Amino acid sequence: MRSASLVLLQGRAGRPDTGTNWMKLRVLGCSGGIGAGLKTTSTLIDEDLLIDAGTGVGDLSLDQLARIRHVFLTHSHIDHIASLPLMLDSVYDQLVQNPLMVHARHETIDALRKHLFNDVLWPDFTRIPTAENPVIRFSPLAPGESVQVGERTLLSVDVRHSVPAVGYVLQTAERTVGFSGDTTTNKTLWPVLNACQRVDVLVIEVSFPNSLEELAPRWGTTVRRPWPKTWSASSISRISGSPP
Ligand SMILES: [Zn+2]
Repeated sequence: MRSASLVLLQGRAGRPDTGTNWMKLRVLGCSGGIGAGLKTTSTLIDEDLLIDAGTGVGDLSLDQLARIRHVFLTHSHIDHIASLPLMLDSVYDQLVQNPLMVHARHETIDALRKHLFNDVLWPDFTRIPTAENPVIRFSPLAPGESVQVGERTLLSVDVRHSVPAVGYVLQTAERTVGFSGDTTTNKTLWPVLNACQRVDVLVIEVSFPNSLEELAPRWGTTVRRPWPKTWSASSISRISGSPP
């Protein structure tokens, strides 16, 4: 019943592109469920970084999976983390040499430890092959904190959802990409984006079709309709008003 999608708003199209510090952004999945042609939320940044790890990750080859070094999770819902346990198996040998780093707020990490990597649903890969040298490491990232990965900085921003969740602001020296994560009305992300010198791409998750608008607040998410009406590509440089 549930269907998610991403709305990508690209701004400042007329600005000359120097291209020196741009990044590659590939949406691997943007659905709330699976089926032919449907994959759940994940975005690949360049070759080594994922924002969320839904079933779309399964489209990557083993070589591509092995190049992923960091996963940034927005929250614990399964459509955002489903491929995380499975990809550890796929590239286990490479991860023994160089563990996968998973960044998330501590509530998300706690949920993964308790409900997924618990030796019941899946082995506790945070202790495999050994607790001292595991193939996956969790790195708590509180809202308001940032992490530098190569040329890129990722800032975690608290957003409102049915479980603790964040959005991300991903920046290089020249470019800024915003990820809303799964959220509804909030007073936290928009001021952070507005404070950026520029926003080149904004990725907004809209989890419910308009026909289920009444259910959306219960899930702490939003519907498709308001976003394109509220914002246009030319307005992305400064987000004004109150997104519904
Ligand atoms: Zn969610």
